[in-house]
Amino acid sequence: MSDVVAYEMDGDIAVITIANPPVNALGHAVRQGLWDAIERFDADEAAHAAVILGEGKLFIGGADISEFGKPPQDPWLPEVVNRIEACGKPVVAAIQGAALGGGLEVALGCHYRVAMPGTKLGLPEVNLGIIPGAGGTQRTPRLIGVAASVQMIPAGGNLSAEDAVARGLADTLGEGSPREAGLAYARELVGQGAGPRRVGALPCPKTDEAALEQARALWRKKSAGEVARLAAIDAVEAATRLDIAEGLDEERRIFREMMETPQRAGLIHAFFIERKVAKLPEIEGVAPREVARIGVIGGGTMGAGIATAALTRGLDVTLIERDEASADKARATISKNLEGAVKRGKLSDAQKDSILSDGFRTATGYDALSEADLAIEAVFEDMDVKKQVFAELDRVMKKGAILATNTSYLDVNEIAASISRPGDVIGLHFFSPAHVMKLLEVVVADQTANDVTATAFALAKKLGKVAVRAGVCDGFIGNRILAKYRAAADRMVLQGASPYQVDRAVKAFGWPMGPYEMGDLAGLDIGYMTRKRKEPTRDPRDVVPTWADELYHLGRLGQKTGRGYYIYEEGKRGGQEDPEVEELVAKAREKQGIAPREFTDAEIQRRYMAALVNEAARVVEEGIAKRPLDVDVTFLYGYGFPRWRGGPMHWADHAGLADLLSDIKEYAEEDDFFWQPAPLLERLVADNANFASLNDQG
Ligand code: NAD
Repeated sequence: MSDVVAYEMDGDIAVITIANPPVNALGHAVRQGLWDAIERFDADEAAHAAVILGEGKLFIGGADISEFGKPPQDPWLPEVVNRIEACGKPVVAAIQGAALGGGLEVALGCHYRVAMPGTKLGLPEVNLGIIPGAGGTQRTPRLIGVAASVQMIPAGGNLSAEDAVARGLADTLGEGSPREAGLAYARELVGQGAGPRRVGALPCPKTDEAALEQARALWRKKSAGEVARLAAIDAVEAATRLDIAEGLDEERRIFREMMETPQRAGLIHAFFIERKVAKLPEIEGVAPREVARIGVIGGGTMGAGIATAALTRGLDVTLIERDEASADKARATISKNLEGAVKRGKLSDAQKDSILSDGFRTATGYDALSEADLAIEAVFEDMDVKKQVFAELDRVMKKGAILATNTSYLDVNEIAASISRPGDVIGLHFFSPAHVMKLLEVVVADQTANDVTATAFALAKKLGKVAVRAGVCDGFIGNRILAKYRAAADRMVLQGASPYQVDRAVKAFGWPMGPYEMGDLAGLDIGYMTRKRKEPTRDPRDVVPTWADELYHLGRLGQKTGRGYYIYEEGKRGGQEDPEVEELVAKAREKQGIAPREFTDAEIQRRYMAALVNEAARVVEEGIAKRPLDVDVTFLYGYGFPRWRGGPMHWADHAGLADLLSDIKEYAEEDDFFWQPAPLLERLVADNANFASLNDQG
């Protein structure tokens, strides 16, 4: 018998146990083992029913990721599932922990399902750019109907055991251990003389045009350009008109089509780089420092968000503000954020109350931080103010404590050099809103100790964030690159594209927002301040979006003032385009003697991405990002880059670096100040190499 699938008898019931730690993934040995066990059960006259179980915490976690990209080996999962379903005697799945992807498909091949409380049942395949390929899209709607299926499958979501029973995806909730629950159910079935109840033999589910249309509209909007989620809806729809054999063929056809898409490659890339991003030689094997109590200095937009993130993850937080009134305001924001967490079911009311009374306090003096293990400064973006704060922290904090700054642009080396313990200083650049956004740029300064960096990565994990290592420069990885493609957008607007066309084209590429909508959301005062800050060092050949300065002076600061690039009306979602803005832009062109020209959406997308990738290549070459994958993770988690494109560097490899470089050279003919090809890009093209080839370097 197989090493990973055991067969034993318990009275007249065959117990088939999968034991393939850690998640009982459906690798080749498990598939073969299940096949053999079912054959044996069918032939075993002493066995009247079978129970399939997963050993350990969960039933089956899904496919075996180590087999990704390799040629499949017989038996394939669809054959195994069909073999289980065809079995002549009842087969019961006793599901605990999770039945995900292929795991749920195996359970659906069984004739009956007992789910233990707390179990998740779901089909997450679309998150990797494919659709369920072993009957998930055909059997699920036969049990729970079309509407519920097109809610769950294209979202890659799952149902709780209780929900699954209520909807009919599982038959009953189990009690005791999964083995006891499965055996009890199997004995009941044998006692009743029940035979196999095959899901595939159930009639086609009734179609539901409204639900199908609603699901399609949702995903077209939510994830424009992504194919697998819509394909999953098509597969469910196929179940309404095809019998099981034809439906399975159609599912397989769509599955194969998805396997070949570049989107699948992008999503697989995203999946793997996420696991690689924290693997850095400088922190390998380095023990992080203990962090239980943290201080946050400044309780504005960022400080309140950071405090919320820390409090919801069980850290003790002391927040320092300038005066009582600001401290009260910060407390009110944090308590509103925590109430939001209660509404979303992330915290109980009692937990929220105990966090606010025991785990959190505000103060206006620094002595309150004498016991803190780590402090994060989030005061105004001003070097002098930050240095004053760091001098105070240096004075009060205990030996070995970590002193972090949330600065967006300022020189972390300069801050570190201003105090007596530069080795304990690091940048922790959170993104707004800090209790929601997943990215944390860990800015490692020249003298930062390795265990301080290791602690930052450990803290990120504790906070549920994805940490990326960045070096010190203006804007670190993300904002430095952002500045370039924002500037490319402004150049296109000056030459003739409207800001609205740029936003539309960029969204059609898959970005959640265009640069001008984004400006309105963040506040146009931020861009204005950045331009002022950079004014003394600005090159005269730089394009300055004078129309944006005018919007600022008109008090049109974006969403918060009801007007920016767009007009925002109370009660209406999104903004409306404004001809007045187009006039401001037209005047700016006139003033500079520029005759506007037409841009296609494709050219806009191309220039936007070329500017991004070119600057990213410099960021990698300078070691600000250690590897291209650090840029990819930064953009996936901090800037909403479409995950199915894998990240901008993965996109560039796929689009072809030689073509990208030749475009940049062509753009340079009209503007050789802005469009200077990055040396790394030129080298990769000369060597016929790509960014992916640099991902394994430390
Ligand atoms: P903010 O103006 O909303 O908040 C700053 C807070 O700091 C205010 O509440 C102010 O009262 C307090 N403060 C100022 N001086 C202080 C002092 N000496 N002691 C104690 N408290 C003091 O600003 P913000 O948007 O939260 O930005 C804070 C920092 O985070 C800046 O360095 C900014 O660059 C950075 N940052 C901002 C964003 C963003 O999107 N807003 C994103 C990432 C990083």
